[in-house]
Amino acid sequence: MDWDEFAEWSKQIADWAVDYHKTLADRPVRAQTAPGEIAEQLPVAPPEDAEAMETVLADFETIVMPGMTHWQHPRFFAYFPANAAPPSMLAEMLVTTIAAQCMLWQTSPAATEMEGVMVDWLRQALDLPETYTGVIQDSASSATLSAVLTMRERATGFTGNRHGLSGKGNLRIYCSDQVHSSIDRACWVAGIGQENLVKLPATGPRFALDANALEQAIARDLEDGQIPAGIIAITGGTGVGASDQLEPVLAVARKHDLYTHLDAAWAGAAMICPELRADFWHGVEGFDSIVFNPHKWLGAQFDCSVQFLSDPLPQLNTLKIEPEYLKTTGEAVTNYSEWTIPLGRRFRALKIWFLIRSYGLEGLRARIRNHIVWSGEICEQIRAFEGFEIVTEPILSLFSFRCPGDDATQQRLVDALNDDGRIYLTQGAFQGRKVIRFQVGQFDTTREDVMMAAGVIKDVWRRIA
Ligand SMILES: *Cc1c(COP(=O)(O)O)cnc(C)c1O
Repeated sequence: MDWDEFAEWSKQIADWAVDYHKTLADRPVRAQTAPGEIAEQLPVAPPEDAEAMETVLADFETIVMPGMTHWQHPRFFAYFPANAAPPSMLAEMLVTTIAAQCMLWQTSPAATEMEGVMVDWLRQALDLPETYTGVIQDSASSATLSAVLTMRERATGFTGNRHGLSGKGNLRIYCSDQVHSSIDRACWVAGIGQENLVKLPATGPRFALDANALEQAIARDLEDGQIPAGIIAITGGTGVGASDQLEPVLAVARKHDLYTHLDAAWAGAAMICPELRADFWHGVEGFDSIVFNPHKWLGAQFDCSVQFLSDPLPQLNTLKIEPEYLKTTGEAVTNYSEWTIPLGRRFRALKIWFLIRSYGLEGLRARIRNHIVWSGEICEQIRAFEGFEIVTEPILSLFSFRCPGDDATQQRLVDALNDDGRIYLTQGAFQGRKVIRFQVGQFDTTREDVMMAAGVIKDVWRRIA
C-alpha cells in the first residue's frame, strides 16, 4: 500500500467511524452470534497472494461486525464501561500513526515527558498530595502485579528476584473477600500463592474490610511464623462496588510496617468529584500504591491505567533491570519501562491530554454525576417491580438486583435481556446468591437511555416469567 492509497482508505475509515457511532444505538448491544460462527467464515490458511483493500474491508463488514459486542453503545450497562471519548480516539489515531515504542526517554522524549505531566494532572484532579508520582500501565492487573511483587521484594529484603522464594517462609497478603480476580492472579504469579492471600469477610453497608479482623489475622499469622507482606484495599469493587474504610486499614498497615495498594480501577474516576472524596477516599494519601483506570469511567480509550506511587523506589528496586542495550547516557531522565513489567510501552498519555483538554475536568465530572443520579433513579424503578429485590444499594453508579425466583431464573433473565439486545447486563455473585448487576457509565449515555432499560427489563421479564 502506498501513501496515496492510505490517504483514500483512511478517509473512508474515518467516515465509517462516524457512521458507526451515529447508528450505534440501533444495533443490539451484545453480539448476537454463536460460538464458532465467526471463525468458520475465516479462511483456515493465510493468502499467498495480495488481496485488495476493498475485499478486506467488505469482509470486515460482513464477517467481523456481526460478531462485535458494542462497548460504546449508550445502553451498555454490563461489567464496567470501557469508554472511548471521541478526542481520545483521535489521539489514538495519531499514536497509531507514529507507532513509537516509549520504553525509554530517548526512544520517545515527548511521550515520557507528557506521561509525567499527565500523571500529575490526574493526581491533581484526584486531589492526591504532591508527593505522588506514577506511571501509566496497560491495565490495573499489571499495576496490581507490580505492587504485589513490590510487597514480596520488600518483605524479603529485596532478595526474592535474586535468590528465588525457596526457604523464605509464607508471605501473606490481606484483603477483603470483595477484591477483583486480578489480585488473586497477582498472588499466583508473584509466587505468593492463593492460600497466602488472606480474604476477610466484608462487612457493613459498603462491604468493607473489617480492621479488627485484619489486625487479628495479622497477629495470628505472626504468632504462626508467617510473614505479612502487604494489604490491598478497594474503592469500588467489581462485584457490587465494595469500598473499604481507608484510615482504619492504613492504621493496621502502619503498625506492622506493611506495603499498601489501593485498587480503585473503576471508582477512581469518580474521585475527580470533590463531593465524593470525603465519603470514599478519606485517608487515601496514606497508600503506597494506588491504581485507577482512566480507560473505564473517565473516557480515555483502552488501554490506560494509572498507578500512583507515594515513593517509586521500592517498585523500581523490584522491577528495574538495565542490560547494556537499554543503557542511556547523559542527563538524568525517567525511563518508564523501569517502573513496569513489560519493556515495550505505547504512548498512552496523549489520549489523556486530548481528553482532559476537550472536556475540562468539569465536563468529565458532569458525566459522572449524571451517571450516579440516573443509576439511583433506575434503581428505584426496579425496586418497585413486583417481586423484584434490590440486593445491593447503589454505590456510586452500580447496584444489583434479583427478579423473583432462584439463581437459574436470574441467569435466564440476564440471557433473555442480552438476546433481546436493547440493553446489556451481566450477572454477579453476592453472599452466595446470583445477582444481576446494573452500572451506568457509558460516556455519552443519556437519562433516556438509562430509563429505557426499566421498560426493557419489565418487558423481557413478562415474556419469560
Ligand atoms: C476492571 C477492574 C480491574 C481489572 O482491570 P484491568 O485494567 O482490566 O486489569 C481490577 N479491579 C477492579 C476493581 C476493576 O473494576
